[in-house]
Amino acid sequence: MKTVVVLGGGISGLAAAWRLSHRAKGLNVVLVEGSGRVGGWMQSVRTDEGAVLELGPRSLRTAGPAGRNTLSLVSEVGLGGEVLAVPTSHKGVSRRLIFTSAHGLVELPSSLSWLFRTRLPFSGPLLPTVLAEIFRPRRKGTEDESVYDFISRRLGSEIADYVIDPMCRGIFAGSARTLSMRSAFPAVHQYEASHGTVVGGALMTKPDPLPDSAPELVKQAVREKWAIYTLRSGLQSLPLALLSTLEERGVKVHLGTPCTAINFRDQSAQVVCGDSVLDTDHVISAIPSHALSGLLSEDLSPLSHHLLTIPTVTVGVVCLEFKGRVLPPQYEEAFGYLVPSHQPASILGVVFDSSTFPQHNRPDLPSTRCTVMLGGEWFDTLGDDPGNIGTDDIIRIALDSMRDHLGVTDEPSNMVARIHQNCIPQYQLGHSQKLDTISDLIQEKAVPLSLVGMSYHGVSVNDCIHNSFTAVDRLLAHV
Ligand SMILES: Cc1cc2nc3c(=O)[nH]c(=O)nc-3n(C[C@H](O)[C@H](O)[C@H](O)COP(=O)(O)OP(=O)(O)OC[C@H]3O[C@@H](n4cnc5c(N)ncnc54)[C@H](O)[C@@H]3O)c2cc1C
Repeated sequence: MKTVVVLGGGISGLAAAWRLSHRAKGLNVVLVEGSGRVGGWMQSVRTDEGAVLELGPRSLRTAGPAGRNTLSLVSEVGLGGEVLAVPTSHKGVSRRLIFTSAHGLVELPSSLSWLFRTRLPFSGPLLPTVLAEIFRPRRKGTEDESVYDFISRRLGSEIADYVIDPMCRGIFAGSARTLSMRSAFPAVHQYEASHGTVVGGALMTKPDPLPDSAPELVKQAVREKWAIYTLRSGLQSLPLALLSTLEERGVKVHLGTPCTAINFRDQSAQVVCGDSVLDTDHVISAIPSHALSGLLSEDLSPLSHHLLTIPTVTVGVVCLEFKGRVLPPQYEEAFGYLVPSHQPASILGVVFDSSTFPQHNRPDLPSTRCTVMLGGEWFDTLGDDPGNIGTDDIIRIALDSMRDHLGVTDEPSNMVARIHQNCIPQYQLGHSQKLDTISDLIQEKAVPLSLVGMSYHGVSVNDCIHNSFTAVDRLLAHV
């Protein structure tokens, strides 16, 4: 019987093991996770009073093939009844703000009316910008371009500064000036490549029709126009449900077992975990590229080197709960706000969790939950001693921002702060060439290794699950 070892019990590794054990009967599947729990960055905490706080991802999008794929998985592992969905019309999704010191909190475009009226922070209505984009010639040449350059070339510097720059901070905790458009936002990049216009491409691209065989949960999401969702006990329920299914299917799951080396031999590998060695026919790595880099033997040093060239950033997360309704009434219903990188404020943004998912509030009294995100590409600037920034520092900055930006001076009734080291990979200029080189090196030496996880082709949970399924299907087509 053939064996496949999956390294890493985050959502990518769990999804890969789930697909393997679902699609390939008679395959020995082993999952190796270094920490004592599954889920990786997906981690939900329940407070003594019953509120749910998310330390990592807090919402999943329903749109696109990857969004539908995750919803199908949620349904298949029996979590359909746990979904807390928010429709596109809800202000907790559609109303997104930015903070600038000149204008305070201002709303970003969310409806067609923005095309015709001048609203801060923009200097005029957006219609001329949008029309000009449709007729602007497509760029010649294929060299990589930063997100900032791409957007300012097509839609002007105001959209780049006030919409896309903060969006890059919200998704990647990174800089629009160094992230690659092709790798960070491949669908938008493709609109220009195939239609010659981003606006036209977005308008002309219709979602794939839903097959009759789609699970009822996916049909409901389309029917009811769900934009995002979470799960009743927090998103960590998904990795936990996957773990239960894997154990029922006979997958061997080793927790608290960090892999310390992988020795690839002809068409097989030995996975070393401390004192024990697992013999396997194939390895699916679902750990970060920098972690995998340190496990490979000397003969694969070019591969190790290239895996290490994908940088990561560190993010501070401060989950705050206040008694009562503390947000300014005009902003109570909103997703939250982001801070553009040219602003002096030291946070990336604040998510108004209780506006989007009030079901996660403590049940006994009215409360407000917010999460302040800090650092990322700018983590070292959060303190005077960059090597020594701790949770006390990020809590202080988070509370100062709540006071200065939102006027919230109350003491939080609950607070959880974490510094997630190297948690988000940066798809910087040249990322796609790095991936090509990595793939060539694996193929040249016929290394029985598949790479999945957030380091490569998408940082969202949806992308991670979708990419794991694709990698498993590709592998099974060849065995
Ligand atoms: C603060 C934050 C907020 C986010 N918000 C969102 C959001 O709202 N929506 C969204 O879609 N996405 C969000 N993301 C992204 C999302 O969380 C990630 O894409 C996803 O969780 C990555 O999963 P993964 O399995 O690829 O990696 P990880 O979660 O990093 O899992 C890798 C696993 O490998 C294990 N491991 C590492 N080294 C070894 C070793 N040597 N041996 C064995 N095991 C090892 C680790 O312990 C870990 O469990 C957010 C991420 C962060 C950090």
